[in-house]
Amino acid sequence: MTEELPLLRVLDLHKTYGRTEVLKGVDFDVKAGEVKALLGPSGSGKSTILRLMALLERPDAGEILLEGKRMGISASAGKVRHLKERELARQRTEIGMVFQKFNLFAHLDAVHNVMLGLTQARRVHKAEAREQAIEMLARVGLSDRTGHYPSELSGGQQQRVAIARALVMNPKVMLFDEPTSALDPELVGEVLAVMEQLAAEGMTMVVVTHEVRFARRVATEVAMFDQGQIVEQAAPEDFFDRPAHERTIKFLEHVH
Ligand code: ADP
Ligand code: MG
Repeated sequence: MTEELPLLRVLDLHKTYGRTEVLKGVDFDVKAGEVKALLGPSGSGKSTILRLMALLERPDAGEILLEGKRMGISASAGKVRHLKERELARQRTEIGMVFQKFNLFAHLDAVHNVMLGLTQARRVHKAEAREQAIEMLARVGLSDRTGHYPSELSGGQQQRVAIARALVMNPKVMLFDEPTSALDPELVGEVLAVMEQLAAEGMTMVVVTHEVRFARRVATEVAMFDQGQIVEQAAPEDFFDRPAHERTIKFLEHVH
């Protein structure tokens, strides 16, 4: 039997803001094609761990490896240094991130929001970028909204544009930070459907969510985050039906 190397590996990550130790040594692995769901109470460090994995912030200690490569740093001749902004920007394009608030540019229509990463970070020619953006918008079910501005789109549509914007960079992994929690209830389903389809197509994903039914159906593994640590991690059936940790049991009582 060959042991599959994890696509994304987080090793003993630590992060402190001021006096608040937000991450107290987080380890986890995500294999290619896996969907990891992260659950946990507000303030437990879920967004922080995603921001570190997206290289938007630096850990105080620990490592993030993508396909075995250490992210955010370079180590040569025994010397470790933090990457310069330009190199970081390149590495960031390998990791797609979708935020709770969609963060689209209000002055750009859907297709231009999606194109921007290609034309700016990848220097792709405009016509080519436009073609790829239109293709990605079709993939998230927005073929008929390519020329719409964010203000002309529902929250669910805006979030799907944000997903297309991440996907167009052809990332190796997609990170989602509570992607449906800013949405009206009737718009949640269309975003989850797009995410479920991505998972079915084999995208590797880490999803912070309170959508228990989604996690149960789509996740390969569910992790419970509490006070900057993973306290329990299991396949969805075990996690939801036979939680072992006190903290998980309490949390699930609240979200059900
Ligand atoms: P979650 O996403 O699980 O709700 P966060 O990762 O957003 O948790 O935050 C965890 C803790 O870290 C909170 O106490 C929050 O106030 C603190 N925190 C997060 N980001 C910062 C920051 N940039 N500066 C100071 N404190 C922060
Ligand atoms: Mg958060």
